[in-house]
Amino acid sequence: MGPQMMEILTKRESERTCIGCRTRMPKNVLVRYALASGNRVVRDDGNIMPGRGAYVCNDPACLERAIKKGAFSRAFRVKADHSGLVEPDNG
Ligand SMILES: [Zn+2]
Repeated sequence: MGPQMMEILTKRESERTCIGCRTRMPKNVLVRYALASGNRVVRDDGNIMPGRGAYVCNDPACLERAIKKGAFSRAFRVKADHSGLVEPDNG
């Protein structure tokens, strides 16, 4: 195995666990959520929010699961307000 191949194998993106389905995935395929003022959970697309992040698959079902089981509160260790995350039910 050449040095180039070695580099590809060792230079893996760090992994995070989706708080919805508990699957470990490369950080770059997960959506990061962070805590804004008032313990509001906000989607942090640009990875710009400071502090602790919670990671969820880019899948509405996973987000819903995370909300339902209170995974955000557990991840942030506060009573997280995730009411702003759920889009209004249109139908
Ligand atoms: Zn997931």
